[in-house]
Amino acid sequence: MSPPHNSLNSRHVAVIGAGAAGLVAARELRREGHTVTAFERQKQVGGLWVYTPSVERDLLSLEPDRTIVHSSIYESLRTNLPRECMGYRDFPFVTRPGDESRDPRRYPNHSEVMMYLQDFANEFEIEEMILFETEVLRVEPAAVDNRKWRVQFRNSRGVSGEDIFDAVVVCNGHFTEPRLAHIPGIDLWPGKQIHSHNYRVPDPFKDQVVIVIGNQSSGRDISKDIATLAKEVHIASKSGANGKKSSRYSNLHIHPTIERAKEDGSVVFQDGIVVYADAIVHCTGYKYCFPFLETNGHVTVQDNRVGPLYKHVFPPGLAPGLSFIGLPTMALQFIMFEIQSKWVASVLSGRVKLPSEEKMMEDVMAFYEKLESLDIPKRFTHFLTDPHWTPMFQNLKPHEAVLISQSDYFNWVAEQCGCPSIEHWREKQYNIAIKKTGDTYRDDQWDDQLIEEAYRDFAKFIKPTTIAF
Ligand SMILES: Cc1cc2nc3c(=O)[nH]c(=O)nc-3n(C[C@H](O)[C@H](O)[C@H](O)COP(=O)(O)OP(=O)(O)OC[C@H]3O[C@@H](n4cnc5c(N)ncnc54)[C@H](O)[C@@H]3O)c2cc1C
Repeated sequence: MSPPHNSLNSRHVAVIGAGAAGLVAARELRREGHTVTAFERQKQVGGLWVYTPSVERDLLSLEPDRTIVHSSIYESLRTNLPRECMGYRDFPFVTRPGDESRDPRRYPNHSEVMMYLQDFANEFEIEEMILFETEVLRVEPAAVDNRKWRVQFRNSRGVSGEDIFDAVVVCNGHFTEPRLAHIPGIDLWPGKQIHSHNYRVPDPFKDQVVIVIGNQSSGRDISKDIATLAKEVHIASKSGANGKKSSRYSNLHIHPTIERAKEDGSVVFQDGIVVYADAIVHCTGYKYCFPFLETNGHVTVQDNRVGPLYKHVFPPGLAPGLSFIGLPTMALQFIMFEIQSKWVASVLSGRVKLPSEEKMMEDVMAFYEKLESLDIPKRFTHFLTDPHWTPMFQNLKPHEAVLISQSDYFNWVAEQCGCPSIEHWREKQYNIAIKKTGDTYRDDQWDDQLIEEAYRDFAKFIKPTTIAF
């Protein structure tokens, strides 16, 4: 497929990664008239959604020279959002009637998401832009002044190469490098430890006493998954009530955070309760990590703040040649990747202008100062979430919410590049979905009117015969 002819600048652009972010970045860049080479170290598209039973040799993923397994998906995983709001705008994530291999549920399993991404790549002929099984080893400015970028890579046959690009768009994902909570005494604790990145199935925990640290989506799901086979599961949660039991799983107990782990195999929770456990599963999140990136200090990662970045995308001192898609978290992901990609593509072509480096830097600094004045730690810099549903942000006043509201952010980026703002039904569905946390929320009935609104919108993009709901 050749790029459209227009009078805008066509750039030679490298995209790193062919997950949900890299795929739509490649499509949007080509739509804007750029030539694109996407580098993907796996054999196929899909990124995180390429499920593998393999895990890393070191189950906490601490060894620096370990072979990295990219995916963090466990076998039983179903999406934590309804499919309608999860998809890209012009390629809705609808069911495929008549295909037995597909999962038609509103919250489908992980392989349905994988197939959706493959469908997307096929529909827009994206694979022809991708170099598979090719890992990017280094990205750096090609020379001091010429604003170009050198990308060094190596493929699975060990063949190395390098190329010079006008711009690099980083889409390498941020759910592969585990973050671990500090637990006093853990070094001498004799049990087995694993991070959720390396969790796949509950079988290794059969009849064991297991502690799961963290009560966000992965922690909640994994603790229930393990509870189907384990003797006892104890969740250590920042919002945990003293020794409370789950109403559905009689062997699942909820506690506050861990105070200390001891050499005798016991773990003491903040409320004084002591549990002798066989294993600890750390569902404590991930770190942003760009091992290939050399920017002479222009971009750093400090306590999970990647910065300085103008609106989470452009480093002021290196824009627009370097950009990041998909850093904001706790937000609708695919549509965000799509809107951010349109912005990057339009800035690179010259259709849209960025403010001066100084103005961008002022904006970033004002943002950081605001976070500090609200006592929001650096590690929440890329959180886009409505403060009302996040306990630590609950004291914010309404006018302060704009700092971290996803719809304000999406609509601001969309306006920059002239694309429509987020659909009413999508925002509403997401806002309802993130409040659902019960044991069976994925199979709840949904408000028909909201779903109808979504499918009326989808009809603009797909033939009526392929839509079913
Ligand atoms: C357990 C879990 C469940 C989730 N569930 C949902 C959900 O239900 N709904 C939802 O919307 N989101 C969910 N997410 C968020 C999810 O991460 C995003 O939806 C999205 O798939 C991330 O896409 P990405 O392209 O940014 O990253 P990834 O999918 O991680 O893709 C990055 C790609 O870059 C490649 N890569 C990395 N480094 C290099 C390199 N040096 N050279 C070449 N290639 C490289 C990787 O191989 C990978 O293919 C979930 C996340 C996790 C961890």
